[in-house]
Amino acid sequence: MSGERKELLDLIGESVRIVALTGAGISTASGIPDFRSAGGIWEKEDPMEVATLSVFRRDPERFWAFYRKRLDTAGSYEPYPGHAFLAHLASLGKLSAVVTQNIDGLHQAGGVDAALVHEVHGSVRELECLSCGERFPRARLDELTVGTLPVCACGEVLKPAVVLFEEMLPEPAVERSIEAIGGCDLLLLIGSSLVVYPAAGLPGYRPAGARLAVINDEPTPWESDADVWLSGDIAEQCGELSAGLGFARD
Ligand code: NAD
Repeated sequence: MSGERKELLDLIGESVRIVALTGAGISTASGIPDFRSAGGIWEKEDPMEVATLSVFRRDPERFWAFYRKRLDTAGSYEPYPGHAFLAHLASLGKLSAVVTQNIDGLHQAGGVDAALVHEVHGSVRELECLSCGERFPRARLDELTVGTLPVCACGEVLKPAVVLFEEMLPEPAVERSIEAIGGCDLLLLIGSSLVVYPAAGLPGYRPAGARLAVINDEPTPWESDADVWLSGDIAEQCGELSAGLGFARD
């Protein structure tokens, strides 16, 4: 076992209020591309150009042509060892929260209680109406579609319940995230380049004395503060960590 992995297992052994802050890199093994790696979403289409509130309002056809593909495949992804590792920490009673920038719902699918998962960028599991506030499960997308656009009972075009560029983050999820991170004794940063604010600033809310660990294949702004950094593939690292905690590798 690598020295870093042993160090992290020791930190986990000493910790009782672990919070994980996750990003797209924990789900790439599930087949969902991230934003910035080679082969990621940026290489094909720039989400900053399309997944914006102004495009949704000005050109909903273009917006939905981009997003419908994502929603159509959203239910077909399976959780992988990174998600399982966090479920294992939860089953040991050590996980107090998962704060995630992901919108894929795979932490809950992987076995972490939904009450512990704070989705600061929303979720593709639902559609929402910005006019009347109504929400619908994604499974109703086709049924609600009139022509090429999903439409609310009030007549407004629906949007996926994800935070678009130019939108504010959902306050309750951010407040719960800050509270959880403020009470942690170990913060795990997994699979995020941590360059997208305000999520990128969340590690700054950890209390003095809380340990910090990073599991990511490339440096993030937090390595210099970290007690341990596991580089390399997240699925492999997390599979080994689960095994080190006594769980079977998924
Ligand atoms: P990001 O693409 O900026 O960063 C992902 C990080 O994970 C990168 O540093 C990359 O090198 C690393 N990585 C990817 N696969 C890895 C692997 N197998 N092993 C080790 N490291 C790996 O993603 P982000 O920080 O989450 O921020 C981008 C935004 O993208 C977020 O706002 C998020 O909402 C959105 N997003 C979400 C999903 C999803 O829900 N699965 C997918 C794409 C983008």
